Amino acid sequence: MNYTTQQLSEITGSELIGEGQLLVKNIDFDSRNIYSPDNTAFVAITTSKNSGEKYIHSAVEKGIKIIIAEHQIPEIENITWILVKNSVDFIQDLAKYHLSQYSLKTIGITGSNGKTIVKEWLYQSLFDDYKTVKSPKSFNSQIGLPLSLLQIGKNDEIGIFEVGISKPAEMEKMEEIFSPEIGILTHIGAAHASNFESEEQLIDEKLKLFKDSKTIIFNGDNELVHRKIHELYSSKKLISYGLQNHNHLYIKNDWTDRSSSLEIQYFDEEFRLSAQQRDEATLGNALCIIAVLKEFNFPTPKIIDKINALKAIEMRLESVNGVRNNLIINDSYNLDLDSLKIAYQFIKEYNKPKKTLILTDFVEGKNSEQLYHEVADLTNLQHFSKIFLIGEEINQYEKLFAAETYSFDNTNKLTESQYLNQIENELILLKGARKFEIEKVKNHLELQKHDTVLEVNLNAILHNINIHKGLLKPETKMMAMVKAYSYGLGGYEIAEFLQYHHIDYLGVAYADEGVDLRKNGITTPIMVMNPEQHSYNIIIDYNLEPEIYSFRVLELFHQQLIQKGVNKKYPIHIKLETGMHRLGFKKDELDELIEKLKLMNVKVQSIFSHLSSSDVPEGEEYTLEQIDTFTKNSEYLMKGLQYHPIRHILNTSGIVSYTDYQFDMVRIGIGMVGISSNPEIKKQLKNAVTFKTVISQISHVKKGESVGYSRRYQPEKDTKIATIPVGYADGIPRLIGNKVGKVGIHKKLYPIVGSVCMDMMMIDIDDASAKEGEEVIIFNSNPSLEEFAYYCNTIPYEVLTSISRRVKRIYIKD
Ligand SMILES: *Cc1c(COP(=O)(O)O)cnc(C)c1O
Repeated sequence: MNYTTQQLSEITGSELIGEGQLLVKNIDFDSRNIYSPDNTAFVAITTSKNSGEKYIHSAVEKGIKIIIAEHQIPEIENITWILVKNSVDFIQDLAKYHLSQYSLKTIGITGSNGKTIVKEWLYQSLFDDYKTVKSPKSFNSQIGLPLSLLQIGKNDEIGIFEVGISKPAEMEKMEEIFSPEIGILTHIGAAHASNFESEEQLIDEKLKLFKDSKTIIFNGDNELVHRKIHELYSSKKLISYGLQNHNHLYIKNDWTDRSSSLEIQYFDEEFRLSAQQRDEATLGNALCIIAVLKEFNFPTPKIIDKINALKAIEMRLESVNGVRNNLIINDSYNLDLDSLKIAYQFIKEYNKPKKTLILTDFVEGKNSEQLYHEVADLTNLQHFSKIFLIGEEINQYEKLFAAETYSFDNTNKLTESQYLNQIENELILLKGARKFEIEKVKNHLELQKHDTVLEVNLNAILHNINIHKGLLKPETKMMAMVKAYSYGLGGYEIAEFLQYHHIDYLGVAYADEGVDLRKNGITTPIMVMNPEQHSYNIIIDYNLEPEIYSFRVLELFHQQLIQKGVNKKYPIHIKLETGMHRLGFKKDELDELIEKLKLMNVKVQSIFSHLSSSDVPEGEEYTLEQIDTFTKNSEYLMKGLQYHPIRHILNTSGIVSYTDYQFDMVRIGIGMVGISSNPEIKKQLKNAVTFKTVISQISHVKKGESVGYSRRYQPEKDTKIATIPVGYADGIPRLIGNKVGKVGIHKKLYPIVGSVCMDMMMIDIDDASAKEGEEVIIFNSNPSLEEFAYYCNTIPYEVLTSISRRVKRIYIKD
């Protein structure tokens, strides 16, 4: 928008006090979010619940010179006032007038759910072809809608706006301001029904938006919606979509069957669509987009491309720690003026003394001249110390930016330059259109970017836990074994994640491991399996719970309790020996144990034992004997103690194969990683760990030449050798050299040749087209962890726990 203060007062019939020729380009109602005071008016919105007038002072402090309010505050000087009768009416009247000045095609979206995602997806699908304006974030209220409409500019061809209502009679008002040419009704749910008497009343109210629409596109799965729209609006063009086959647009085949693509029926036309995300809401939203694109007469193949290109709507910006103490804020999802403003607001929350901006072409910009002037004005208010511009278009406006500014044709040119390496202790905002892939800059600047990493997928761990939980009774507790640095996957990161997901217990091997977890804020109960003598002190200090497996340990621990004057009944765990012959009390020790425990200031928190052979079919008889012994001995112990501690004996393979003996708790370990002795369960588990690196160098080696130490490998024909930066110091056993082990490149396996070196090894990649810098999989799915363990002549447990600490662990959550 672009109005003088005089015009604003005339358009809305308000009183002007002060200057009439001030230009207003923005109206802000939240004083916290004022990103630029120039040409901005602050409107104090007064509703029955709240008065914005109390924020006028803070708006003025931010440099605002124009205030729109119902009352003037005379003490504030040098302000131009626009005095209105009703602040909400003002903003609505202005929006209505503003919209009437333009002839763009309008799309109005209402519904209980999905408005924002449909709006964002439509925008993603249309902005390449039309100059498109949309509501920011989910601005759809009595105030949000008018503010959105005020964003319409003279070259806009399409406007997509959300319309939300929260109580009866609101829609009429909204429709008076905004009467869309194409009306969209997404899903109707009970979510907002609270202020409505019935679903029917809610539907009736929403449908009022379409009074003057030419076309209505609606989710027709709701029968009432379907019927009402046909009753009310039979003279309009109606297009229904949904999962049910009475709709004009629907999915013909079984959409839950992931092995086949979706068969889409649109009136008489059929086409196929592949889809990853298959929940009802997502599919419904995607169908809605198809219906709209059809209305715009896009050919089907183009529609399919557009649907495939839709990105999840990630409203949050990502922040990561960078090298040289920089903080990187990455927002490379989408670039328009609106999201730039949001990013500028966001970075205000960080107090880094200096800021750098990396900004690309705005690909949507048809009227670039004006757009880049606005971008520069807005940017100059943020006081960046350096600005890097990427793209041939924005480069032309370098002079508009009031900072040390550098221009580059593409993202690679920037990362190859030395400029980024000179930035230290700054906030670096990355803001780019998708096609510029400025996430490359993030990769370049990110802290501890290592070529060799062990990537742990926390969601997969949770999934695997849930698969095992699914086998158990709902009340059975679960202890996660996070000993040995969580089986090599990492320390507190895994425990923290499990704690967040309400694991009942954690198990560690040594007190130190437990202390580490406590120091990192883990409050879940922790059992320590090997409480070494010298560690009883810290066990008590850090509220860890020792495993007690012999009288010697019991006595020593008890003495420590007395010495420290602990006067609560301290939780301990009694280990019973049932056949593993490792640690634990035997049958003939139980009487004495009961007597001692009764005299001590301890509480037996749990009684447990460990199975020696639950993972092998031939171990069944022995396992059942162990379980039988455990049942009898634990019952004897409980009878003597006269209370019922938690009992547990099953590890991962026990959970799967001896589910009936789950007692009160189970202990999951390797199953979290995605390993199972049971092929059926294995199929349901997700692989949680990827060990990977990249190719350092590729050399052409001729027949007769040799590779590596002692010339162990001498290829029989000319070949290519890839050197990768991982060796026995990283935990790759030397014995898998000389073609014993393989690694994956481009999903195919290639042998490790010559001897494994301390920090490197060589791969014969034959005539593969692999390039330097490309990814090499040591294990994930090809080869799998099990296959890799097989090369090493060991089991997955040893492989994981042998990966040395110098290999960076990376945790991903999707
Ligand atoms: C490590 C361990 C487990 C977990 O075993 P998995 O086979 O990895 O499930 C269970 N109980 C005890 C006592 C352990 O030491």
